[in-house]
Amino acid sequence: DTTHGRILYLEDVHVSFDGFKAINGLNLDIAPGELRCIIGPNGAGKTTMMDIITGKTRPDRGSVFFGSTIDLLRYNEPEIAAMGIGRKFQKPTVFEQLSVFENLELALKTHKGVAASMRFALKGAQKDRIAEVLHTIHLASSVNRQAGLLSHGQKQWLEIGMLLVQEPQLLLLDEPVAGMTDEETARTAELFLTLKGKHSLMVVEHDMGFIGTISEKVTVLCDGTVLAEGTLAQVQADERVIEVYLGR
Ligand code: ADP
Repeated sequence: DTTHGRILYLEDVHVSFDGFKAINGLNLDIAPGELRCIIGPNGAGKTTMMDIITGKTRPDRGSVFFGSTIDLLRYNEPEIAAMGIGRKFQKPTVFEQLSVFENLELALKTHKGVAASMRFALKGAQKDRIAEVLHTIHLASSVNRQAGLLSHGQKQWLEIGMLLVQEPQLLLLDEPVAGMTDEETARTAELFLTLKGKHSLMVVEHDMGFIGTISEKVTVLCDGTVLAEGTLAQVQADERVIEVYLGR
C-alpha cells in the first residue's frame, strides 16, 4: 500500500542490549520509490535499525510499519523477507560454484518456496525476469560464468540481482560499494538510480562521494536516533553532524 506516501515508517523505536540503548527514540519515514542514504558514526545504530526492520531484532517499544497497514512487529524474519523486503549484507554471499544464471535461478526458486523442486523447469515469465535482471546488474554477458570467478563488484551486483528476481518493494543495502574500484562504484551508482522509483532503497554507506551521486535525502543516525536529515550538502554543513564526525 503506497497510497499514504510511505513504504516504511518507524515511530519512537527503542532497543536496549543489557541496559545499553542501541536505538533510542528512532523515527523514520521512507517514501515509495525513494533512495535514502543512512550515515552515522560507528555504533550509531545503523545495523540494529536494519535488524529491526527485517525482523531479526525485536524492539522494546515503538512502531514499525511497511506501507501504511502492515505492522512488521507481527511478523518474523522469513515472513518479512517474503513480503518484499530484501536485505543485502556487506560481504557478498553468492554460490561460488554455480554460474551467474544458476545463482539467480536458485534465488527465484527459493523465494517461490520450491527450492526442493529444482528439477522443474522455469516458466517463460521467470526466464524473462532473470534476463531483465541480468541486464540491470550489468552481467548479461557473464550469464554462464562461474560466480566464484567474478570480480568483487560483480559478485555484489549478482547478490543484488538475487534480491531483484524476488521483486522486492524495499531493498536494504549495507555498504554496497565497500571494496569496489572507482569504476565499479560508478556503475553501482548507475544501478541504484535505475532501481529507484520502481523499488525503495535504504543504503547504509560511508562513501560520501558515492552518496552525493545517488541520493537526494540523507539521514544521519547518532546514539540510536536521527541527528539530522536533508540533502548531503545540508547535513554536511550541520554543526551537530560535523561534531560527531570530528569526534566529541
Ligand atoms: P552501527 O551499525 O551504526 O555501527 P550498531 O547498530 O551495530 O551500530 O550498534 C549500535 C550499538 O549497539 C553499538 O554500541 C553496539 O555495540 C551495540 N550493539 C549492537 N548489537 C548488540 C548486541 N547484540 N548486544 C549488545 N550490544 C549490541
